[in-house]
This record gives sequence, structure tokens and C-alpha cells, in this order.
Amino acid sequence: MISILRSFIVVAAAVLFVGSARADYFRTVVIDPGHGGHDKGGQWGLVYEKHLALDTAARLEGELKKRGYRTVMTRRSDYFISLPERVRITEKYRNAIFVSVHYNYTWKRDVSGLETFYTSAKSRALASYVQSGMLRKVRAVNRGAKFARYYVIRNNSCPAILVECGFVSNPAERARMKSAWWRQALAEGIADGIDRFRKG
Ligand code: ZN
Repeated sequence: MISILRSFIVVAAAVLFVGSARADYFRTVVIDPGHGGHDKGGQWGLVYEKHLALDTAARLEGELKKRGYRTVMTRRSDYFISLPERVRITEKYRNAIFVSVHYNYTWKRDVSGLETFYTSAKSRALASYVQSGMLRKVRAVNRGAKFARYYVIRNNSCPAILVECGFVSNPAERARMKSAWWRQALAEGIADGIDRFRKG
């Protein structure tokens, strides 16, 4: 009887330990502003994706720091950084997640909305929390959390997502993303999603 009780206590302690370890198993968020330098990304007139992504990523960094996360930026200003280098930076950190920030572009001007991509199964929940986090902050078309094999999320071994914060090619969305309010709201929405993922 005592040995059964003892093994029950051991199992209960193990469950508690695993439970708490799982709740904060990542400490670092690697934030990856898409494009940079000669790689402008999506572009309409003087509105460049690379600038929007960097500003939104910097706002996300501020928001995450406020919430106690350790953050790493793959670039801090307007210079080119290759996709393999973005992955190499991330792989230096244990217990990290990776969030690539982009703005979208298509030749169909009427297409708009937000979408979040993941490749691995372990990134799927992160993608859907971030997608719903953004949509709680702004009114936009929900294009969903979706599977895709983009280089930076396919090659990262940690939970890794790529967030598309609206279409540069859509006139209404372009007008909104030019305002700091939109970029700040999306940064907060992404941070909310990361928080929810962390709490599991
Ligand atoms: Zn992009």
C-alpha cells in the first residue's frame, strides 16, 4: 500500500514538473523582419514591405520585452540578410521560437487580409494563436493559419511561423498599414498570440 502511494506521489510530482516545464519552455523570441537592403519585398510606389516589416517587428520586440521575454532581432535596420543566415541566428538559441514578419503582395488588387504560415506540426498552434491574436486587434479578412514550406519556417527546428500583416497591393489595406496605429495593433496581437501559446 505504501509503495503504491509512493509511486503515486512520484507520478504526481512528475506530472507537475512536466506541466510547469511545458508552460515556459521557451524564453527567447527570435523576431525576423522580412527582406531588407536591395530586397524590398512587396512594393507599391514608395511603400516597401521591408520598411513596414522592420517597424512592425521593432514594435513586437518592445511589446514582448514589456511582457518579460528575451528577444533577438535578425536585422535592426535596412540591410540585406540571407534566408540561411536568419535560420543560423535562430539555431544559436535554445528554447526559442521564431516569428518572421512580412507584408503581402499580389497582382489582384482586391485581395486583402491577414494570414499566418507554419510548416511543422509543433508550430501549428503558435500560428493559430497569433492569427486570432491579430484579428482580435484589427478588423480584417481572416485568411487563416495555413501550412506552407517557406524557407525560414521549414528549416528552423524550433516552433516557427511567418506572419503576413496585410496586402501592400490592396489600396485600403495599404492606407491602414501606413499608420503607426495599425502596425502597433498588429504587434500587440502577435504578442498576445505568443503569450497564449506559452501558456499552452
Ligand atoms: Zn515578404
